[in-house]
Amino acid sequence: MLKNLYLGIDIGGTRIKVAIVNSEGIIFEESSIATDTKSKPVNVLKGIVNVAKNFKNYSKIKSIGVGIAGDVCFQTGVVRFSPNLKMWRNIKLREILTNLTNKKVYVDNDANAASIGAFYLDAKGKTTDLVCITLGTGVGGGLILDKKLYRGITGTAGEVGHITIDAYGKKCNCGNRGCIETFVGAKYLSKFVQDYLKNKNSKIINRLVGKNYKLITPQLLAQAAKEGDKIAKRIWKMVGEKLGIFLSIIINFVNPDTIILCGGLSHAKKYFMKYILQEIKTRAFKSATKACKIVVSESNHKLGVVGAAMLSEQ
Ligand SMILES: [Zn+2]
Repeated sequence: MLKNLYLGIDIGGTRIKVAIVNSEGIIFEESSIATDTKSKPVNVLKGIVNVAKNFKNYSKIKSIGVGIAGDVCFQTGVVRFSPNLKMWRNIKLREILTNLTNKKVYVDNDANAASIGAFYLDAKGKTTDLVCITLGTGVGGGLILDKKLYRGITGTAGEVGHITIDAYGKKCNCGNRGCIETFVGAKYLSKFVQDYLKNKNSKIINRLVGKNYKLITPQLLAQAAKEGDKIAKRIWKMVGEKLGIFLSIIINFVNPDTIILCGGLSHAKKYFMKYILQEIKTRAFKSATKACKIVVSESNHKLGVVGAAMLSEQ
């Protein structure tokens, strides 16, 4: 059976992934290039198009989808601002790519693209109401409601990383205080551990970083927990509890059938998942909790590019 083919482009701060994907989200051909953050966006896009045109099936693609971090307008295809790409300010991405390729182009933010990717790859397109949460440097998210991505009036629906968990908590990049991102975003979490260790002593962490606490990352914290470090385990418990409070809000508010966790921190699930479930059990509605499956994505590195490709199906 002949299926539609789409081109997906995932523009990240360090690498750009390009792939041809079919209507079930299966990758046919893929490639990636380093992100040249110093080049003009139009030149970066020309480079991407060159990569895409080398794919065997390029002539068969029906449309192109792009996922990029930042403030992106789906309706106009304009990137107003991208935190990792300083040159990308008010860039008419859709218009430029349409001119370069003569194809229909869709542009959305990376969290929405990842959510669509999770819907096709992890949920196999079978769930109805899905919340995808990206636990990376920051905390992002996307909502699939009734099998369609929900964007809201101005395209910011799913910005779950800035749900307040502690009204008097730390100041967040967004201007608010105590957002879930200030507890579990990799940047904030690493800083928290650095400060925490000023009055504590962990032989295992000291050995792993040679006392240079600036090297502490969530991966390192997972390694320390694996080696039995009590402090690392205590911190993962805190991460699990905060995520549990956060997910209880989402379960009560959205009543999804599936929550998919993805991003770097999700790899450490065995150190925090138990605490998430404990919190949810005591906080969220029982029927909603029972109906909601919480899973960690098994396709982490592909979600963005596949979701971008599938934007036209959404
Ligand atoms: Zn915030």
